[in-house]
Amino acid sequence: MPELPEVETVRRGLAPAMEGAVIARAEVNRPDLRWPFPDRMAERLSGQRVAQLRRRSKYILADLSSGETLLIHLGMSGRMTVSGDPLGQFVHDHPMPEKHDHVVLHMDNGARITFNDPRRFGAMDLMPTATAEQHKLLAVLGPEPLGNDFHEDHLIAAFKGRNTPVKSALLDQGIVAGLGNIYVCEALYRARIDPRRKAGRISATRTAALVPIIRQVLTDAIAAGGSSLRDFRQADGELGYFQHSFDVYGRENDPCRTPGCTATIRRIVQSGRSSFYCPTCQR
Ligand SMILES: [Zn+2]
Repeated sequence: MPELPEVETVRRGLAPAMEGAVIARAEVNRPDLRWPFPDRMAERLSGQRVAQLRRRSKYILADLSSGETLLIHLGMSGRMTVSGDPLGQFVHDHPMPEKHDHVVLHMDNGARITFNDPRRFGAMDLMPTATAEQHKLLAVLGPEPLGNDFHEDHLIAAFKGRNTPVKSALLDQGIVAGLGNIYVCEALYRARIDPRRKAGRISATRTAALVPIIRQVLTDAIAAGGSSLRDFRQADGELGYFQHSFDVYGRENDPCRTPGCTATIRRIVQSGRSSFYCPTCQR
C-alpha cells in the first residue's frame, strides 16, 4: 500500500505532465472505484486546465480551472502511469488499454495519464477548490508531518494521557496525517522506542525527539523516490514504487543494524498489523 513518500513521488512524476496542461478528454470506464464517481465526472474534467497538483496526506489534489479540485487516492493497489512525450520528459509509448484502466486523462500536451486499480480500493472525487479541506476524507486529517503544524508541542499534547501503544497513536491519521505501517516502524527504530510502549507513558523529551525523526524518515524516502524518477526513462512509466532500504521493516530475524547490537529484528502483530523492531535497542 503506498504511503506518503510513494504518493509524493507519484505527484512529482505527474506534475510535469499535468501542471499547466489541459485535460483534453477524460475517459471514465466504470461508475465507481471504492465509492461511486461524482456525477458527470468525465464532462467536468474534460477541457479543464490543471492549475496545480498538490498533496494532502496520501491524497493527490489537482486544482482545475473550473474551480473544482480532483481528489485522487491510490488505495491499496492503485497505479498511475504516464505515457507520451510532453516536454520531452517521458518517452513511453501509449500502452494498449488494460483491463483495470479505470480512468484515462488525455492531456493536450500529448501525455496520457492512466489510473489502473485491480482491487478498486482507490477513489476519485470532485469538490469545490475553495472548500477542499472540508471534504470528508480530508477534514479528519491531522497536520502534515512535513508541515509547520506538526511540531513537538503538538505531538506531546496528542500523546498525553493516551493509553494506546505508540505504534497505534502514530498510525492515527488525526494525530499526524499520512504515516503508515512501514514508516512508523522505521521512525520508532530510529527513536529507539518500543512500539508497544503506551504513548502517554513516553517522556516529553523522547516524544519531542520523534518529530525530527519522523520528518527525516519521510524525507529520506521521498529522496529515494526522487532518484527513481530520474531513472524514469528506462522504467515502464509507472510512478511511485521504488527500491527502499528499510532498517527494520520486513527484516524479521535479520541482524539489527545498530553498531554493537547483536540482537535480531523481531516481528509482532499489533492491531492486526506487523510491527518490526529491535528488542534490545528499542525500549
Ligand atoms: Zn538493536
